[in-house]
Amino acid sequence: MSSTPPPIVHWIVRMNHRNRTSCFVLLFAAIGVQLLDQPLGPWAWVALVLQFLIGPQLQYLLARRSTRPIRAEFFNMLVDGAGFGLWMAALGFPLVLTLILSIGACFNLTAFRGLRGLAEALASMAAGVLVVVALGSLAWRPQMGGLATALGVLTLHVYLSLVALSAQRRSVKLHEARQQLRASEQALQQQLEQNRRLHAQLEEQAIRDPLTGLFNRRYLVDTMERELAQAVRHGVPLSLMLMDLDHFKQVNDDCGHQTGDEVLRRVAALLRTQVRAGDAVCRYGGEEFLVLLPGMSEAQAEACAQRCCLELAERPLEAGGRALRMTWSIGVASHPAQGGSTQALVAAADRALYQAKRLGRNRVVVAGGPAPVAMISAHV
Ligand code: GH3
Ligand code: MG
Ligand code: MG
Repeated sequence: MSSTPPPIVHWIVRMNHRNRTSCFVLLFAAIGVQLLDQPLGPWAWVALVLQFLIGPQLQYLLARRSTRPIRAEFFNMLVDGAGFGLWMAALGFPLVLTLILSIGACFNLTAFRGLRGLAEALASMAAGVLVVVALGSLAWRPQMGGLATALGVLTLHVYLSLVALSAQRRSVKLHEARQQLRASEQALQQQLEQNRRLHAQLEEQAIRDPLTGLFNRRYLVDTMERELAQAVRHGVPLSLMLMDLDHFKQVNDDCGHQTGDEVLRRVAALLRTQVRAGDAVCRYGGEEFLVLLPGMSEAQAEACAQRCCLELAERPLEAGGRALRMTWSIGVASHPAQGGSTQALVAAADRALYQAKRLGRNRVVVAGGPAPVAMISAHV
C-alpha cells in the first residue's frame, strides 16, 4: 500500500536540490580549475560535468518520483560521497578540496542519520577512493593553485551558509507545524466538548417530558426496575404515588387547551415541591403523574400523598389569566405489601387510583389499605 509523503518531505527534497545545485556549480568550477593542471584526460571532464552539472537534476528527479523520497535522498547522498571520494583520490588529495568534499559528504549524512550517517559517509568516500586505487591512478598532489583554493573556500562558505539557512527555515517550519497542530488540537477539543454537551442534552431530552420538564415514562420504567431491585436487595420499602387530575377535561373545554397546558406545568412544579430531591417525579400520561418514593413505607407515602392532595386543593393555580382550583385523586402502592415486581406495584396503585375516583375524587387510596377518608372537593 503506497501513501503520499507529507508536505515537509517534499520541502526537504526541494531544499536539498537547491543546495546541491548551487554548491555543485561552485565545486565544478573549483575542481575544473584544479583539473586544468592535472594529467587526467577528457574522461575526467565528462565525469565532472556528469556529477556536478547533470547529476543534481537527475538526483532531484529520482527523489521527486520516488514513493519514499527520504530513502531516495539518502541514496543520493551516498552517491555524492562516493563521487567526492573518487575526485579527492583522482586529483591526488588537494588539501582545500579534500577538506571541502569530505566536510560536504560527512555533514549532510550526519545531519540526516546521526553517527550512523557519518559512518556511511566515510564508507561511501572510501569506496570512491578504492575505485581510484583499483584503476591504479592513486597519486599525492596536495598543492592547489590560488584560483582553485579561492573557489574552494567560496564553495565552503556558500555551502555552510546554505546549511545554516536550511536549518533556520526548518525550525521555523517545525514551529509553524507545531502551532497548527496545537490549533487543530484545540479545535478538536472544542468539538469534543460540544459533542459531549449535545450528547448530554440529547440524553436529558430523551428522559424528560417537554411540557412539564418532569421525567417521562421511559425514564420511569428503567428507574423503577433499578430502585425496586435495590429495595429488595437492602430489604427497605419502596412506595409510589399515582395521581390523576380530577375533571381535567373540563379545564380544556372551559378555558382552552393552552390553559390546560399551563395548569399541567403548574401542577408539575407544585408536585416537585412536595417530594424529596431524590424522588423520581414523572409525567405518566396526559394528566397523570407518578412519583417514586425510594425508602418510604406505605404509611409515609400515604402521608406524603395526603399533603399533595391538600396542597393542590388549597392553592389556586394561575393559568390563562385565571385562578383555577384543581384537585387530584391519588393511588398509593408499596413494596413489599403489594408485591415484588414493578408491574404489580403500578397495577396496585392504578387500582387504588380508580377506587379514589369512584369514591368521589380528591382523595388518597392506599392499595390494600383501610377505607379512604373523603376530602373537600374543589373544582373549576
Ligand atoms: P377524571 O376526573 O375522571 O380523571 O376526568 P378527566 O377529565 O381528568 O379525565 P379524562 O380522561 O376524561 O380527560 C383527560 C383529558 O386530559 C383529556 C385530554 O384532552 C387532556 N389532556 C391530555 N394530555 C393533555 C395535554 O398535554 N395538554 C392538555 N391541555 N390536555 C391534555
Ligand atoms: Mg387520566
Ligand atoms: Mg383526570
